[in-house]
Amino acid sequence: MMNLCELAPSFIRSIAPYQPGKPISELARELGIAESSIIKLASNENPLGVSPKAQKALMAAIPSLALYPDGNGFELKQALCRHFSFEMDQIVLGNGSNDVLELAARAFLTANDSAVFSQHAFAVYPLVVQAIGAHGIEVPAKDFGPDLDAMARAIRPDTKVVFLANPNNPTGTLSPAADLERFISALPPHVLLVLDEAYNEYLQPQFRTDSVGWLKKYPHLLLTRTFSKVYGLAGLRVGYAVGRAEVADLLNRVRQPFNVNSLSLTAATAALDDHDFVRRSYELNLAGMQQLCEGIKALGLEWIPSFGNFVSVKVGDARAVNAALLAAGVIVRPIAGYGLPQWLRVSIGLESENARFLQSLKQAIKA
Ligand SMILES: *Cc1c(COP(=O)(O)O)cnc(C)c1O
Repeated sequence: MMNLCELAPSFIRSIAPYQPGKPISELARELGIAESSIIKLASNENPLGVSPKAQKALMAAIPSLALYPDGNGFELKQALCRHFSFEMDQIVLGNGSNDVLELAARAFLTANDSAVFSQHAFAVYPLVVQAIGAHGIEVPAKDFGPDLDAMARAIRPDTKVVFLANPNNPTGTLSPAADLERFISALPPHVLLVLDEAYNEYLQPQFRTDSVGWLKKYPHLLLTRTFSKVYGLAGLRVGYAVGRAEVADLLNRVRQPFNVNSLSLTAATAALDDHDFVRRSYELNLAGMQQLCEGIKALGLEWIPSFGNFVSVKVGDARAVNAALLAAGVIVRPIAGYGLPQWLRVSIGLESENARFLQSLKQAIKA
């Protein structure tokens, strides 16, 4: 068996697996305590749970589960077109937006190409690039966010894809619209920009950009969005990409025919219409962000102002502080793997969860 594994390409053997947030059930087993006594603020999930409209649609869809899903996702695409001004043939549906990120890499990169992304960016970008054997170019960050000028300079003749999250995870930084548009308009024609807008719905109105409008002006732009965050469907895995029809067509060719299952299609379609749930999620996040930042400030700790549904806080010995938090039944995310070994990322939870995190953090940094 050893010899067989050595036959796998070295770029596959050297992949460092994605480290997800610790599941509640796992910590409950380790500590021998009830799952209900644990809070998880580790994966930027929606603390309000699943949209009620999506729940209702899910129940109604169960009797049809013997049938294959609609491989083209007609109804969800129709719903997306109703909500945003783009066309059906511009959309690529994914098993989470992670899936469409990988489809973009597979559609455009070979082992002879490179992709550019920022330091402290989403861990999936280097992973999907490395899985192809392409070269990942990580550009040093500026003030914890992408340094757009340096990223533009880092583009080489063999660069085919640039990945950029706005807001970025795990640092929460937002690139101003004017800077972004300047970056996009200056991109060489052989480069696709994948603009990952997973946290778009959490932006306050004054920070929103008309990125969908940019698609008309810039053929090399692909936006990705997800139902995992504000729509509360992380467990179902639904996301999508939208770009020029020709680009979407390429991604759809490498997509598995039934990559989004029927429950996910149904729930996402319903969640898109649950304006009340989206609004409550947004407002809870805004209030929780303020609560957490005030609490962190009161503890005398540094944090990175965030535009997402999470905030990263500098705790010093993050391993020890994280261990103390876990012992107190509070799961957050260490981000050493993102080049931030002294920091922990905490997702905005319910008011009571935020308060419990702050209280446990206070104890943990004293210890
Ligand atoms: C959470 C997140 C996503 C969403 O991933 P899904 O596969 O849709 O759950 C995408 N990009 C970034 C930067 C994220 O933080």
